[in-house]
Amino acid sequence: MRISIVDWTHQFLKQYVKEGDHCIDATVGNGGDMLYLKQLVKDTGTVSGFDIQQMALDHTREKLAAHGFTGNLYLDSHANMGQYFEKESIAAIVFNLGYLPGGDHKLATKAESTIQAIEESLLLLKRGGVISLCIYSGGDSGFEEKDAVLSYLKGLDHKKYLVITNEFYNKPNHPPMPVFIIKN
Ligand code: SAM
Repeated sequence: MRISIVDWTHQFLKQYVKEGDHCIDATVGNGGDMLYLKQLVKDTGTVSGFDIQQMALDHTREKLAAHGFTGNLYLDSHANMGQYFEKESIAAIVFNLGYLPGGDHKLATKAESTIQAIEESLLLLKRGGVISLCIYSGGDSGFEEKDAVLSYLKGLDHKKYLVITNEFYNKPNHPPMPVFIIKN
């Protein structure tokens, strides 16, 4: 069976997200992660999403509606997410870094704003909550962001956060890396 980075991340998230929880998709894209989270939190929970491309928000709104769901969609950088939520109120925050497949590579996530957004996420996350990161590198982008994010995560206080990095160990050509941060 082939396991994609998205499948792997979703399986992991499922252990932490329950009905009625509040979650954030920090990189909405085509809405796949947002739909998955909404299916976990059901009607009593909420999922909010950020993207810098209106097109991404439009596709996601349509995808959610096709399944009878709604979500709170913000045309804003995830670096600003702290302005929208109470501290320690969020069960899971999902990052799928890089660019929209088939989209403009110049609109990919960037090291500096990604790290700002992770810092904000750590404040918003409740104890026992999880942040997931799908980190891509290869072709024309992602290497600098991957190195910067991993270096930032290495410095997180191990008494407050557990950081787990995973590898597709025998896969060639810069495989994507799933990373999880759990707030103790
Ligand atoms: N999770 C998505 C899905 O299920 O389809 C895929 C996300 S795609 C790999 C990355 C997305 O991050 C792009 O849609 C891009 O516009 C968005 N993005 C780039 N910089 C951003 C930022 N600073 N804040 C929020 N979103 C950003």
